[in-house]
Parts: sequence; structure tokens; C-alpha cells
Amino acid sequence: MLNFELYNPTNLVFGKGQIEKLSTLVPKGAKILLAYGGGSIFKNGIHEQVINNLKGFDIVEFSGIEANPHFETLMKAVAVINEQKIDFILAVGGGSVIDGVKFISAAAHFDGNPIDILQKRIMTTDLTKIIPFGTILTLPATGSEMNSGGVITIESTQEKLSFGGSALFPKFSICDPTVIESLPKRQLQNGVVDAYTHVLEQYLTYPHEGYLQDRIAESILLTLIQVGPDVVEKPTDYPLASNFMWSCTMALNGLIQKGVPSDWATHMIGHELTALYGIDHARTLAVVGPNLYRVMFETKKGKLAQYGKRIFNLTGTEDEIANEAISKTVEFFHTMGMETKLSDYTKEFDKTADFIVNRFEERGWLGLGEKQNITLEKVKSIVEMSY
Ligand code: NAP
Ligand code: FE
Repeated sequence: MLNFELYNPTNLVFGKGQIEKLSTLVPKGAKILLAYGGGSIFKNGIHEQVINNLKGFDIVEFSGIEANPHFETLMKAVAVINEQKIDFILAVGGGSVIDGVKFISAAAHFDGNPIDILQKRIMTTDLTKIIPFGTILTLPATGSEMNSGGVITIESTQEKLSFGGSALFPKFSICDPTVIESLPKRQLQNGVVDAYTHVLEQYLTYPHEGYLQDRIAESILLTLIQVGPDVVEKPTDYPLASNFMWSCTMALNGLIQKGVPSDWATHMIGHELTALYGIDHARTLAVVGPNLYRVMFETKKGKLAQYGKRIFNLTGTEDEIANEAISKTVEFFHTMGMETKLSDYTKEFDKTADFIVNRFEERGWLGLGEKQNITLEKVKSIVEMSY
């Protein structure tokens, strides 16, 4: 097993009715920026619950953080923070709002041009330079409520880039599974597939000697397979909703990543597809992931075979099980309403592989994955295979 440090300071407040604890979680006397998206929180009553539970606090609202949040939008929030002398941010939303708030938190007191946080991947590690924030999660998927990373789109250059650092954990995250009742089916499906792929990015890697990490990862995968197809039909079912939400948090709160190598190339390629075509994040992962496992078969087949045996009870030779495990993954993604070909989303796909390879080359991303052996040639094959 690799050496590791485990640090996760987020106070996760989980369960039905937990939004009532909000006023005890926000620092006393704080001037709060209440940040949210396009308005779903008005339709499902979460905005009202938040306001009712923050009586006596000075609140400034910032709305309109879009899905795949834009740097340009977030910089408007940074201006509000500095004008209004905000000292705490409350993110109410899914991964996009939470990631957006992480960026606002890092950018507000940043020494220099905040675009460098993204383009030069400057880590945010100084707790004295950030605006502290908490979250109320409204969409289980990303794990952003309990990790210190985020992904932001720069509209002017059509780039989608990740950032993060140990100072960007939420102070608290309220996860009330009943919030999923108002989610459209498409977003519930996205949540299951995003979380499932987060586990695979940390599990289908080699060499991997985290026997315990494997068992935890497998239990998250099995739980998502158990509840995923049903929760999208019955989001009002509390046992389904609560297990779905907790699985999504556990998939990317750092725990299963400790002591093992992780891949993340599916996400890196997927981000380009969102930046280019606006495809939902999870749907890009369903397009890229299976083809990445096919192209990287020789590196990953041992782990794919373990996955096939333990998750799908497959039998046969190592190669047979590993191949069948990829087919079973595609089958699960189809069950979850995903298309798995780029041509299902855009007819303008033919230059995508060259475009992505050029971009990666410009950024110096010459070898991705846990062994940095996903070369630009392999990235090209993965993307072309998805046409
Ligand atoms: P999202 O982009 O935050 O939200 C998608 C849509 O769902 C929005 O239109 C939102 O509407 C709506 N919505 C949210 N909660 C709702 C509710 N309870 N009822 C009805 N509608 C609701 O989706 P996401 O999948 O959570 O986040 C995706 C982003 O996270 C991507 O940018 C992805 O790259 C990133 N990501 C981050 C991490 C990480 O570790 N930080 C990991 C993976 C992915 P409103 O705007 O109206 O609220
Ligand atoms: Fe993701």
C-alpha cells in the first residue's frame, strides 16, 4: 500500500430534517453570501427552509450559478463578496454550485489573477486566504460536499479545468436525502453514473494493494447497482434515497483513494466533451469510461477481472471475465438511461479526437492515468472508439 495522510475536516450532517440545524452550523454573526443555481431551490421549498433557519443573519443572495459553472459568472460573485464584506458563503445546490462556491472562496482573496487557479492549477492550501463556506446538497452525485476539489468552465476559451487544495473542504455539509424528490429523472441517473465512475477511477488501477480500499469500493458499487435503477423511479423512497446519497458522498470523499493509485483520465477526457458539446458530466463518463478500459486492457485486465468476479459474479479466464466486465458496465449504464456513444449526442464528432489531443499536448498532459501510460495516441483511440 502507498503511504498516505487522511485529512477530512468537513462536518457532514446527514438525514431528514437536518436543514433545521443550519443556524447552529453557520458562524455566529456572519454576513452570509447565499449562493445557488437557476432557481430549483424556489420550486422545491429549500430556499424557504434556508431563510427560515437563518433568521437574524445578514444575508446577501447570489443566484445564477449555471451547470458546469463559468469562471465569468463566479467572478461576479467575487466582486459582491469584496464589496459587501462577506465572511461566510452558503452553497445550496448540486456539484456545480458547490464547485462554484469553492472557486469563489479561493478567488476572493487570491493574490494575482484568479484565472491562474485554473490555468496554472495553483493549489489553495492557506486557510487564512479563503472565505469559509458550508453547503446544503440538493443533488447527490459529485461528492463535492465532502471533498476539496472542483471543476470550472472558462467560457471565453471553452476550457473545463479542475482545481482544489486542502483549504477548500466545506466547513459543513447538510445532506438531507428528501431533497432528491424534486430532481428530474435525468439528474438522478447522472448522479448514479457519476458516483459509480468515481469509484472505478480509484478502483480499476494497477498496481493496487489496498485490499480494504477494494472492499469498500466494491460495496459502494454494489449499493449503487442495488439502488440506482429503483431510486430514479421512486425518489420519494427514503431507504433508496438515503443509500443513494451516502454512496455518492462515500465515492469521492477521499477515503477509497487513500494508499492506492488513481486514474482520473475518464474525467479529464470527459471534461473536454462537456466543454465542447455541453454534454452532462456523467454522460461523458459513460461515453469515455468503457472505451478507456478497452484501450488500456493490458494494464487494467487484472483489476477488471477482480471487478467482474466480485461485482457481477462472472466466471471464465481472466481475459474473458475482464472483457465481460466491460460489457456489464455498459449494460448498467444503459439501464441508467445513458447513451454510450458520442454520436448519440452530436453529429459534429469527427474532429473531436484531434482537438482533444492537441489541447492535452498544449497543456503538457502527455501521459494520463495511474501509470501515466495513457499517451496521446491512446487518448486518440479512446475518443475515436466512442464515435
Ligand atoms: P449540477 O450541475 O449541480 O445540477 C444539474 C441541474 O440539476 C441544475 O440545472 C440544477 O438546477 C438541478 N437541480 C439540482 N438540485 C435539484 C433538486 N433538488 N431538484 C430539482 N433540480 C435540481 O449537477 P451535478 O451533477 O451535481 O454537478 C455537475 C458538476 O460537478 C460538473 O461541473 C462536474 O464536472 C462537477 N463534478 C465535480 C466533482 C467534485 O469532486 N467537485 C466531481 C464530479 C463532477 P438549479 O440550477 O436550478 O438549481
Ligand atoms: Fe465526476
